[in-house]
Amino acid sequence: MPTPLTIPFVNIYATLPSQFYRKTMPAQVTNPTLIQFNHDLAAQLGIELNGTSHDELALLFSGNQLPDGADPLAMAYSGHQFGQLNPQLGDGRALLLGDVISNDGQRRDIQLKGAGRTPYSRNGDGRSPIGPVLREYIMCEAMHALGVPTTRALAAISSGEYVIREQREPGGVFTRVAASHIRVGTFQYFAVHRDAEGLRVLANHVLERHYPDIDSQADDRYLQLFNAICRKQAELIANWMQLGFIHGVMNTDNMTVSGETIDYGPCAFMDTYKASTVYSYIDRNGRYAYQNQPAIGQWNLARLAETLLSLIADNEKTAIAQVTEVLQDFALWQQQAWLSAMRKKLGLATEQESDPALIEALLSALTDAEVDYTLFFRRLCDLAENPEAADTKLGILTLMQAPACSGSKDTTLEHWLDEWQARCQHETSSPKEQALAMRAVNPAYIPRNHRVAEAIKAAEDNNDFKPFKRLLRILAHPYAEQPEYLSYQRPPKPNEKVLRTFCGT
Ligand code: AMP
Ligand code: MG
Repeated sequence: MPTPLTIPFVNIYATLPSQFYRKTMPAQVTNPTLIQFNHDLAAQLGIELNGTSHDELALLFSGNQLPDGADPLAMAYSGHQFGQLNPQLGDGRALLLGDVISNDGQRRDIQLKGAGRTPYSRNGDGRSPIGPVLREYIMCEAMHALGVPTTRALAAISSGEYVIREQREPGGVFTRVAASHIRVGTFQYFAVHRDAEGLRVLANHVLERHYPDIDSQADDRYLQLFNAICRKQAELIANWMQLGFIHGVMNTDNMTVSGETIDYGPCAFMDTYKASTVYSYIDRNGRYAYQNQPAIGQWNLARLAETLLSLIADNEKTAIAQVTEVLQDFALWQQQAWLSAMRKKLGLATEQESDPALIEALLSALTDAEVDYTLFFRRLCDLAENPEAADTKLGILTLMQAPACSGSKDTTLEHWLDEWQARCQHETSSPKEQALAMRAVNPAYIPRNHRVAEAIKAAEDNNDFKPFKRLLRILAHPYAEQPEYLSYQRPPKPNEKVLRTFCGT
């Protein structure tokens, strides 16, 4: 008898008071098969496979068989969805199997998504189609490789069953790993239910778990906690912005207090730069458009602040004044983090007062000329390396898609390139060093919408997971040139463009 797979579960969340969750067992699926397993991540989590077969992994990560030590529960939370408070959300199609202490000493949650109904399922079936499973796998692992704090993918399973959405779709189960699944909406849950004690327990848990540097005896520890969460979110959103990432559904239940990106639903990376870009089909008014993300982040954090007031100070007015100050700082931190990232993208190690104007001028030129955001910066690295290369410069200009721009020589973008080259004269690094630094922050590969859609379609229509696996391999090294995969750098042709993304819940 081989040793079974072992997961070193600790399960701290299950020790919190009973109103935090509902213990729930996963439902069975008919015929689970393994699509993908993240061996590197499993090793980091201290999971020992002991020769576990693919079939056994499929049983364990579909919910058909519980790994030893798992204590499955559905977490309670509320949340503002598109600005409307929904007091009763919670894990409707997710189950926390438990948490482990990973090799880096950090606690990590292991959660099944799509493992059946829970007490929080409302009218939902607790299931997930395969499309959202593959999408989340691709997007979160790409974000991780890009260097953005994010939840991770441990496994993707095909359930062998169909789920009913607008049509019948093949079903799947996703295993998500997170620093925790505690959201702004988790705090809102206790505030909505006027559960002051629950709120305090939650805040203390978050302090200990995510912000151990804050002195747990300090009088202002809850204000410090709020401050620390705001800082993490400011950095996170700046990181999204510099990469052209659009989360798509920044409801308060989809914002962690750990600072990790969570809930990859209708998210997307934009191709052509345009600040008002929205992909999500359900975001009809553009609430979660690319350019709105910093302001929405601040709005969500204001909702978090409201839940913390009574913990922060006995006098409400005092507490409001204190959190307001932090919320103002959030905007500043976000702007600073973004500016610093944009300077790096442009290869500027020094700071000049005129840099923000240079960046704004670029964004406006990219918008007017309809230029692919990611490819532009990648090509700019080539120009940094060979400042005199006329063909490199011309190559950049051919990225312009706007009808008025093509063929015209003296464009704003061309002018901007001259300005940028003049600015680079003030840098001390050599062109080669500058290009190297730029290539380390300007990805060649992002999960482009049309490639993600192509991978999902092959899986849905033909049970063909090769395009999905290929995409994962490429996206694991986003900053490296991969000459055999140049076509994956390319933006979509007009007929390949994906203009709408779906939650698929
Ligand atoms: P999300 O769109 O993932 O942020 O989910 C919002 C809320 O809807 C959460 O409470 C989910 O658990 C719940 N939900 C989404 N899809 C389903 C489903 N298929 N079955 C049950 N609950 C769901
Ligand atoms: Mg959610």
